[in-house]
Amino acid sequence: MPEFTYLDHAATSPMHAAAVAAMLPFLTERYANPSGSHRFARDARRAVDEARDVVADALGVTPGSVVFTGCGTESDNTAVDGVLQAAVTAGRPSVAVCPAAEHHAVLHPVEHAGGRVVAVDRSGRVDLDALAAALDPHVALVSVMAVNNEVGSITDLAAVSALVRDRCPDAVLHTDAVQAACWTDLRAISPLVDLMSLSAHKFGGPKGVGVLTVAPTVGIDPIIRGGGQERERRSGTHNVAGIVALAEALTITDADRDTEVPRLAALRDRLVDTLLAELDGVIETVPRSDKVAGSAHVCIERIESEALLYLLDRAEVCASAASACASGAMEPSHVLAAMGVDRHWSSGALRMTLGATSTDADVDRAAEAVIDAVRTLRR
Ligand code: PLP
Repeated sequence: MPEFTYLDHAATSPMHAAAVAAMLPFLTERYANPSGSHRFARDARRAVDEARDVVADALGVTPGSVVFTGCGTESDNTAVDGVLQAAVTAGRPSVAVCPAAEHHAVLHPVEHAGGRVVAVDRSGRVDLDALAAALDPHVALVSVMAVNNEVGSITDLAAVSALVRDRCPDAVLHTDAVQAACWTDLRAISPLVDLMSLSAHKFGGPKGVGVLTVAPTVGIDPIIRGGGQERERRSGTHNVAGIVALAEALTITDADRDTEVPRLAALRDRLVDTLLAELDGVIETVPRSDKVAGSAHVCIERIESEALLYLLDRAEVCASAASACASGAMEPSHVLAAMGVDRHWSSGALRMTLGATSTDADVDRAAEAVIDAVRTLRR
């Protein structure tokens, strides 16, 4: 690969070398299916059990609460559909509620189930008054993301949790914490919610493996039925290599967080401050105080994101306009629309997200490339 600057860590992150090393034996000599009964299978099962203990410890939940899934999307779908199906089966109310700026992995299943979508504030965080208005005895599930994938804003989950517990004590509270692992100690989040989704490839693990934590008091119907793995909550042969690597990546992320957050905040500040100093007509979409350290999101007037990304790509800088799924199609961001960002600004949205491999040189090179590209486009 040619040398390039990667500032798209919210889309996916490069794997930690130790996570790659941890998974390799399970792709080669330790390849057994952990559901088998021979010693070779027991070896694989032990590896899954150990990974489960490590993950449980990093998340502040019991090992029995950890359900390994195929990705963050599957964790989110299982949370929404699994809770709603269990409610229907039990003859209980089955309305779902989520904010309008959720990832599509939550928003689409909630909409598909005819749920209630509530307003967000100017930073993309759920509007607590709107949420309160949507909570009534018909609600079975409330899903509110911990960190927004596009603009990086952080939800006050303590306030959300207090509100939901007060208004709907029987409702299940889920959080999509897929973008939170690098920035927040997840042990502080897990006591506030009943269900929590994670995805390994957002924190230096492999693609195709995720976690859904399910509190012991909560019953969910599986959305994938079959061999009954994961205590009947998610069938399918375990992705042993992926699960082992997820646990390794989470351990590294957890250990490095206290040093990485200030390091990456300083890099992000340098990047955004340079753009603000050198270019007119640039706004920070969300105040830095409302968002995670690795997120730089700006709106640039008098340019189109698509043209900007094209020039950045030519300059070997990887960034995005919205989330990874949307950026291929270049559709207007549902997050910015929900936040009430005027089209004048949102059409020039640029998301640059930092992570473990980001350096001073990366942000300097990216800043220079953005400045050059914007000047070219405005000429
Ligand atoms: N939720 C959020 C907030 C995300 O950012 C993503 C991925 O972009 C997902 C869910 C989906 O995760 P995965 O890519 O593992 O399906």
